[in-house]
Amino acid sequence: MKRNFLNLNQKTFDLIVIGGGIIGTGIARDAALRGLNTLLVEKEDFACGTTSSSTRLIHGGLRYLRMLEFKLVWQDLHEREVLLNIAPHLVSRLAFMIPLLKSEPLYRMSLPFGLCLYDILASGKSLPSRKHLSRSRTLNMEPTLSNIPDLVGSYLFYDCQAGNMERLCLENAISAAEKGACILNHTEATGLLLEDNAVKGINITDRITGTDYVVRGRMVINAAGPGADLIWNKINVSRNYNLRRTKGIHLVTRKLTSKALVLFAKSDGRLFFIIPWYDYSLIGTTDTDYTGSLDKVRAEQSDVDYLLSETRNYFPWFKPADICYTMAGLRPLVSRGEQKESNTSRAHKIIDHELDNGIARLISILGGKITAYRAIAEEAVDLACKKLLVNVRCSTAQAPLPGAPAVNQNDTLKIAREQKLSVETVSYLGGIYGSRMTSVLTHVNRDCHPDTNICQGYPDIPAQIKYAVAEEEALTLNDFLLRRSTLGLSPSQGQDAVEPVAKEMALLLGWNNQEKQKQIQDYRDLVARSQEFRKGAI
Ligand SMILES: Cc1cc2nc3c(=O)[nH]c(=O)nc-3n(C[C@H](O)[C@H](O)[C@H](O)COP(=O)(O)OP(=O)(O)OC[C@H]3O[C@@H](n4cnc5c(N)ncnc54)[C@H](O)[C@@H]3O)c2cc1C
Repeated sequence: MKRNFLNLNQKTFDLIVIGGGIIGTGIARDAALRGLNTLLVEKEDFACGTTSSSTRLIHGGLRYLRMLEFKLVWQDLHEREVLLNIAPHLVSRLAFMIPLLKSEPLYRMSLPFGLCLYDILASGKSLPSRKHLSRSRTLNMEPTLSNIPDLVGSYLFYDCQAGNMERLCLENAISAAEKGACILNHTEATGLLLEDNAVKGINITDRITGTDYVVRGRMVINAAGPGADLIWNKINVSRNYNLRRTKGIHLVTRKLTSKALVLFAKSDGRLFFIIPWYDYSLIGTTDTDYTGSLDKVRAEQSDVDYLLSETRNYFPWFKPADICYTMAGLRPLVSRGEQKESNTSRAHKIIDHELDNGIARLISILGGKITAYRAIAEEAVDLACKKLLVNVRCSTAQAPLPGAPAVNQNDTLKIAREQKLSVETVSYLGGIYGSRMTSVLTHVNRDCHPDTNICQGYPDIPAQIKYAVAEEEALTLNDFLLRRSTLGLSPSQGQDAVEPVAKEMALLLGWNNQEKQKQIQDYRDLVARSQEFRKGAI
């Protein structure tokens, strides 16, 4: 994947996609696989928005059954299976436990129906069905639940996790580029070209060089997630839909449990998760209306207090010092006037602006879960194709993503032997890049010990930096630390890796010292934002 601005001013694309989150990259991939001449612009980096601040579950969403969203759950359970097939290196099954408490008899009675329905909606899928476990079997599987005095048993069921959501998004972008799409991160759509009530292209700015371009397109899809309405503002599109932005935060903590837990907040009855994620736990999430600046979303002290005290109801020893950092993101929901944030539907809406407000050649996507991204993309590209009079069927449900298949144990051992790398390193690289790991290894410097890590305590190797810059458009320190490697996601947020990575990227990208310091500061600012809740000392 190479950013290519050559002759952009003279080109007319079949389809222009604004936004490089999971929905936008999914659309670009689908369109490119159908042979459409496609451009995608992302103002920062792939997955840097809501996509990377999610709970990282590929799930039907048990909670949505309570909201009677049967169609949504059914579709998402189908998509869960599709993703297990096309991205086996990134999506894996995850066992969930729902503790049953003596103090909640009503819930104990209704839960079996919900889980039974969940299984029925998932029927024919590869994951095991629900199981009821006695108290002692529950504690055998998850001894940490012994803190709950009135535990009477649990239900065990399965869903999926894409721990490296950033990679799932990136691989959609890579696949699109490999099929000929022009994929530009750090490129902002700054305006829409409106002629005779039709969108004929967009204005863009390359945020790395500051250069402006005007690009023509036969169709534009607005997949800017929580920023979708800001795109409408550029041409004063009248609004028939309300985008409701709700904030959701997560706590990244030391590892609390080995199984994923579905728990209920005592204060408001909301469901929340404690999920094993790498060697730590992810606790979330919250759901509160957000009206502030899109660039300043962060976990406030009140958000952290809520999750902290609800977690303490189950794990009384859990304390602020167990929190490594926080993550915060915005849901782009379609409001139908619901009062409570958590009652607002998670279903997506595809807006054909020609029908909606008379602006031709513009489609907007609102809402939608990551789980359904491929199906949402298919629906959006079907609509674009219909308008472009193109008759090619979608193939993304069958075409594996670039890093598939997953690397198995035998291959790991063989590669480790051949490349003279530790099994731990190869297994870690396989977890990130899947079968593309072999391309990363071509960047290993054979002059020094190939296994020398970027810094002590992390399995990442310098070849990853070279690969990310050469092949995956890592253009900033944040891109590499947060979205090409997992260094920035670790409990210490990769602080020890900042200097060595910045040094290597400066060499590869020609940064002078001032630029290198700016990059370091940008990263440190981001880390500081994720720690800001501590200022209020809970
Ligand atoms: C706390 C939380 C937990 C969630 N958990 C789950 C979960 O476990 N499973 C699940 O399936 N779903 C989950 N979701 C929902 C899911 O994360 C989102 O619905 C999904 O990520 C939306 O993707 P997107 O591509 O629309 O938005 P984004 O990922 O935000 O992408 C939009 C992109 O557009 C870019 N952009 C904006 N304006 C411009 C412009 N002018 N020019 C160029 N680019 C622009 C942004 O930089 C951004 O990268 C969760 C959401 C939240 C908030």
